[in-house]
Amino acid sequence: MEIYESPKKLDVLASADVIVCGGGPAGIGAALASARNGAKTILLEKFNSLGGLQTQGNNPIFTFVDPALHGGIIIEILKRLREAGALRKFEEIPPYERGRMKSILISLLGKDRIPKRVLETDVGWWGAWGVTFDLEYYKLLLDTLMDEAGVKTLYHTLVVDVLKEENELRGVIVETPEGRKAILGKVVIDTTGTGLVAWKSGAACMGDEGIPVGKRKGQYPGTLIAFFVGGVDYQKFVNFRLSNPEQWGQMYCGMDIVKKAKEKGAYIKHDALVCATIFDVYNAGRVYVMGPVYAFDDKPPWSVEELTNAEKDMRKQVWAIFKVLKENVPGFEKAYVERTPAYPVLSGHRIVGKYVITVGDMREGRAFEDSVAINNMPPDIFELVGRFGYEILPHDIPYRALVSKDIPNLLAAGTVISAGLFAIGGLRYCTPSICTGQAAGTAAALSIKTNVSPTDLDVTLLQDTLRKQGVIVSVKEVPPEALEPYRVIKSLGLVFKRREPDVPEEEIAKY
Ligand SMILES: Cc1cc2nc3c(=O)[nH]c(=O)nc-3n(C[C@H](O)[C@H](O)[C@H](O)COP(=O)(O)OP(=O)(O)OC[C@H]3O[C@@H](n4cnc5c(N)ncnc54)[C@H](O)[C@@H]3O)c2cc1C
Repeated sequence: MEIYESPKKLDVLASADVIVCGGGPAGIGAALASARNGAKTILLEKFNSLGGLQTQGNNPIFTFVDPALHGGIIIEILKRLREAGALRKFEEIPPYERGRMKSILISLLGKDRIPKRVLETDVGWWGAWGVTFDLEYYKLLLDTLMDEAGVKTLYHTLVVDVLKEENELRGVIVETPEGRKAILGKVVIDTTGTGLVAWKSGAACMGDEGIPVGKRKGQYPGTLIAFFVGGVDYQKFVNFRLSNPEQWGQMYCGMDIVKKAKEKGAYIKHDALVCATIFDVYNAGRVYVMGPVYAFDDKPPWSVEELTNAEKDMRKQVWAIFKVLKENVPGFEKAYVERTPAYPVLSGHRIVGKYVITVGDMREGRAFEDSVAINNMPPDIFELVGRFGYEILPHDIPYRALVSKDIPNLLAAGTVISAGLFAIGGLRYCTPSICTGQAAGTAAALSIKTNVSPTDLDVTLLQDTLRKQGVIVSVKEVPPEALEPYRVIKSLGLVFKRREPDVPEEEIAKY
């Protein structure tokens, strides 16, 4: 049966120069940069706070921030969090979470042969896995930053479609508590994390093809969540971990108790857990647990029935994992499930830009003439193909990967940029997302100012503007001694494998 929605007149709820759709790390960077560069900016978010997976998804983290590579909004946000006492202090992070890279380097090469920068700093790959913070304070800070910059934020506003005239976007259609409305704008930035705007616009997108190569070709990437457990005796748990290095001395831990529980029929799918205290900003007994996973296989992650199945299935796993921890791990005696996330990691669609970034580019540490940001996050394809490697070098992100090749006024940032499925495994992380957000927002504002569409924007003007705002736009501008640690670590060929990888190494490079 074919059903048609009857056409109806829509009220215009708001109009702006730049519409940013989605307030995760990418949307935060985009909205702030757009408004600060003079564009009337509106930020649309379906939940009641900004932060995306950092707040609604329980992941208050920026991974591998390196001030030699990352500048601008990310550094400013960390400074504001630090000033408010809402940032985890590095010296309080237990040794098993500080990142083992420094000790690996010292043991493999000796103190005399490792780059001085590694010994003198705790950033990038040789610091902690990430900088963590108080997610509730972060929500307040983000509201403050948006207000200070003059961004109009609308919560409870779900973008459902686009308004398109010929080949250009004229705005978006939203569902709000006051009904279905139109929002008009000259440039639209897709920071939904799922590429919904790009997909609805009819622009060429990646995503429908699923996993492009290997044993699981054509299947869709799975998903995972993290949940918080409260009421943990912090010191008791830390002491337990320190005294059990075999099972608890690394990020993935608890293999023995998980195995035993599974043998007795516990509903747990993973073979190890992440039980991180790094997110316990105040050492008050909150543990971040990652473990529930779900395979979509043949159904796309945007199938609402399948997504519902995933949520229900992972909730069952949460309680099974919690039971195992409570019954077996010292410190968890009085623990409780404190908070599960509002949504899991989702792979949707990504724009096809004039350039598609691949793992090959990342491995080469490639520089581009039109670079607007630097990434140092390796492709996290542990869940996807069974391996994670320190195999890349810091590399450029070209502006061409942020603009749709089909729609001249459609930009993307974060998880939605033009990159292969394996490359996006690193580029979607919070640090590069906020950086690509800042680049896209700046580009949008400049295109309004200079009266050209983003696709025709003068990239030199964009790069100069970003530089003035503290961004390091290309690896070509980074002193060699700052890059040296990455070169040394890459040369060690550190690849961690969970299972025999599903995709041959040389194939990974192509996506
Ligand atoms: C369990 C887990 C562990 C992780 N670990 C790390 C880690 O250690 N380090 C790290 O850096 N990253 C980690 N990540 C990944 C990281 O959180 C994401 O890659 C990052 O948040 C992506 O940013 P984004 O802005 O592209 O998308 P998102 O964070 O997903 O933000 C998208 C925003 O758009 C909004 N939105 C979506 N659709 C619409 C719509 N139609 N209308 C209005 N609003 C909409 C969403 O509500 C959300 O606020 C982890 C994620 C998970 C789930």
